[in-house]
Amino acid sequence: MIQKTKLIVANWKMNPETEQEAKNLIEEVKVGLISIKNIKTVVCPPFIFIDSVKKNLGKTKNLILGAQDAFVGDGSSHTGEVGLEMLKKIGAKYIIIGHSERRDECDTDESIANKTYAVLKNNLKTILCVGEKERSEHGEHYNEIKKQLLTALSKIQKRYIKNLIVAYEPVWAIGKKDNEAINSEHLFEMTIFIKKILSDLLGHDIAKKIPLIYGGSVNKNNAKELLENGKVDGLLVGRESLKIKNFIDMIKSL
Ligand code: PEP
Repeated sequence: MIQKTKLIVANWKMNPETEQEAKNLIEEVKVGLISIKNIKTVVCPPFIFIDSVKKNLGKTKNLILGAQDAFVGDGSSHTGEVGLEMLKKIGAKYIIIGHSERRDECDTDESIANKTYAVLKNNLKTILCVGEKERSEHGEHYNEIKKQLLTALSKIQKRYIKNLIVAYEPVWAIGKKDNEAINSEHLFEMTIFIKKILSDLLGHDIAKKIPLIYGGSVNKNNAKELLENGKVDGLLVGRESLKIKNFIDMIKSL
């Protein structure tokens, strides 16, 4: 049986502190991934380390460069921003959009819709994050996910959808212990729900090709269970992606 390639996204957030540490990290990831098959790993370092990481990726086929956000406005008079075109030129292939930490800082429904549209149109992979702040007994979190998805995708055109990846990241499950992550049963329910929304919006044939990944306190203890029983196509990993031995063990466990 042909095994489907799984997508693992490493979100380094605002780590590490130095360029040398970033080089060491990527070297360790690269060595750890040798001989691992059927897994595509995307590493998203902070902007200032993207160039170093890119240069140290080597020719490892299944290790790919990503970024944690992108600025998509016109012109160059945007102090402090890093533009999509710059990221594209430096070699980023995947861009995380709408991470809950960016939503807290500055992103709005409108900016996320603009970014999603621009990244997809530029032929880069968009990892669109959606996630509720809390689960509600009355299922309100489903409405929240629907709203986030529909607004983020409100500007896109079907022909660009092939580059879309949806990351379900419940905010309450980020940065916790592995036993506080979502359980696979609840993840599976959300998987079905998200697929149904995408299917209603884009049609079944397009929707079934959109990878759905999960993020929130994943490590080697819960990764396989979440992936298999939550029926997702991959995982978005924060803190644990910086502990390289654990990260590689997690990947090997899948
Ligand atoms: C994240 O912030 O995207 C994330 C998944 O973090 P963690 O794995 O640390 O919960």
